[in-house]
Amino acid sequence: MDSQRVDKLYTMLEKFQKKVDEQLATKLEFDKCRRLIQRLSSFSSDCEKCHQRFNDLENHILQLLDKKGRFTENDFKQHRQIMGKISSHLQKQHKLVTSGYYLSIYMSLGTSLGVVFGLLIFDNIGLGLPLGIGIGVAIGAGLDADAKRRGLTL
Ligand SMILES: [Zn+2]
Repeated sequence: MDSQRVDKLYTMLEKFQKKVDEQLATKLEFDKCRRLIQRLSSFSSDCEKCHQRFNDLENHILQLLDKKGRFTENDFKQHRQIMGKISSHLQKQHKLVTSGYYLSIYMSLGTSLGVVFGLLIFDNIGLGLPLGIGIGVAIGAGLDADAKRRGLTL
């Protein structure tokens, strides 16, 4: 991906963000948008689909800018759809995870294990549960931090 083109899209997005109010900015998820652009551009040289999605997103943002603030519900719907498609492609094809992904998995795993441990070892769910959750949180948070460090977080 041409880095100038990526920069241009970032600049465009920044200008766009300054023009809309906070409520709208939240709805349009600019931060997430920027992260997606970054990921797409880094994968686009090897992945045709990422290249395509980058084009889609670029066109879509241009279209939104063209509306000069007169958005309809349909625009937001389209926005969510495009962002959703990009997220799912990045997660499926490039093994990226959303932030807090491992924490949520290991916390529920820890909760179940805590119940089992509590019943089997302590004969008391109240003792096993916090232990299980504690271990789950520790593992999940560690994996999340690791994913982030390795640039695998969406
Ligand atoms: Zn891709």
